[in-house]
Amino acid sequence: MDKKRICPVCGDTIFGRIDKKFCSDQCRTEFNNRNSKEYNNYIRKINSILKKNRRILVELNPNGKTKILRTKLIDSGFNFDYHTHVYKSRTGNTYYFCYEHGYIELEDDYCAIVKKDI
Ligand SMILES: [Zn+2]
Repeated sequence: MDKKRICPVCGDTIFGRIDKKFCSDQCRTEFNNRNSKEYNNYIRKINSILKKNRRILVELNPNGKTKILRTKLIDSGFNFDYHTHVYKSRTGNTYYFCYEHGYIELEDDYCAIVKKDI
């Protein structure tokens, strides 16, 4: 006899094909909805961090290029863990971008904020 299989949504026994993962279509749908909800929340959370980072860079860099103390970014709520992409210049400098706005870490706790032409 097969081992008894349990539906992860409602806890009922699953009857039928061996590859069946849920007791019913209803439970399968519910499981998928639940997953996509969590997934969307996660995406939304990261998007809002990226948008906030971008807004901070825009506000602190009205002229296209600015040198400021790193602490000023931190005070504004900038999250250094998130960026959309990294750009390495030919001279080996690393820029971190949030969309078209980015920064590079300089010496003595300074950052330069830059804007990419798009
Ligand atoms: Zn079920």
